[in-house]
Amino acid sequence: EAAINRIAAGEVVERPASAVKELVENAVDAGATRIEVVVADGGRSLIRVTDDGCGIAEPDLPLALSRHATSKIDGTDLLNIHSFGFRGEALPSLGAVGRLTITSRVPGEGAAMIAVAGGRADPVRPAALNAGTVVELRDLFYATPARLKFLRTDRAEAQAVTDVVKRLAMAEPFVAFSLRDETSGQSREVFRVSSETGDLFGALHGRLRAVLGREFSENAVPVDAIREGVHLTGYAALPTYSRGAAVSQYLFVNGRPVRDKLLIGALRGAYHDFLSRDRHPAAALFVDLDPHLVDVNVHPAKSEVRFRDPGLVRGLIVSGLRHALAEAGH
Ligand code: ADP
Ligand code: MG
Repeated sequence: EAAINRIAAGEVVERPASAVKELVENAVDAGATRIEVVVADGGRSLIRVTDDGCGIAEPDLPLALSRHATSKIDGTDLLNIHSFGFRGEALPSLGAVGRLTITSRVPGEGAAMIAVAGGRADPVRPAALNAGTVVELRDLFYATPARLKFLRTDRAEAQAVTDVVKRLAMAEPFVAFSLRDETSGQSREVFRVSSETGDLFGALHGRLRAVLGREFSENAVPVDAIREGVHLTGYAALPTYSRGAAVSQYLFVNGRPVRDKLLIGALRGAYHDFLSRDRHPAAALFVDLDPHLVDVNVHPAKSEVRFRDPGLVRGLIVSGLRHALAEAGH
């Protein structure tokens, strides 16, 4: 059983960045207003995510580590997925492929911690923590050496972690994020954004500036369109601010970062008349729709989605973006 769990875990946790994604999404789900991520050696030796969210009550700590245990759906409606996490697989997977400790405290109770390594959990112990949750993952894939061989250089893995944190930060402008690299005991700040205030568009614009830079934010037009209950919001850059690489494409479905071919193709289609083949449009776009109209469960890494009506979503993106660009005189 332990071996099967480790294989299944490898599907969920492909690399350090996927572990960071799961842990940060959990912190967001817990209502955190501040999320700190620390990594060392590209995340191989250490990933630590600290949040100020609701915490996990002591009796629930062992539960959080058991497969398919989730506090986020009741099992009666698997399709009705409103929060990010829904499978209850992330923590058990991380506990199967690395040395995981969770320290947590809910308001008004004492802090407690649990440790699990290679799928085997120790009993819960009392701990010291003011509030929220600290999840620490050390020695990722130590129990599955074959997986280690698939990792790229520490530098490349660290870059993937940075990219994931930036994408998640883009989706949550009201949450403060920081990312530090503590390789070789030296602490280096990689990324930091403070929480934005105001209405969603204002906050999003502020977060865009913080993550993608002033030039992007000053060349971006707001997008706000709706068709048959599918809502498209965000910012799209003017064609003059296109890039030679698709690094500035931030796409979200129901708040979840995705790298979906249909959405990328639709984005490209919207700019078709303005951009030559080698230029990529920059945009941060949020597609929000009834969870029943999209399958986010295509792959455990969850970056692809399947829309019930792909033509509708594609049409909305093309027309919504063209409209926004036309308003700006293009
Ligand atoms: P899922 O997120 O799909 O429910 P996970 O394995 O990621 O599954 O987490 C299991 C459970 O542990 C969650 O449902 C939640 O109740 C709890 N949990 C995990 N991380 C946190 C956190 N940072 N703060 C509060 N609760 C958490
Ligand atoms: Mg989760």
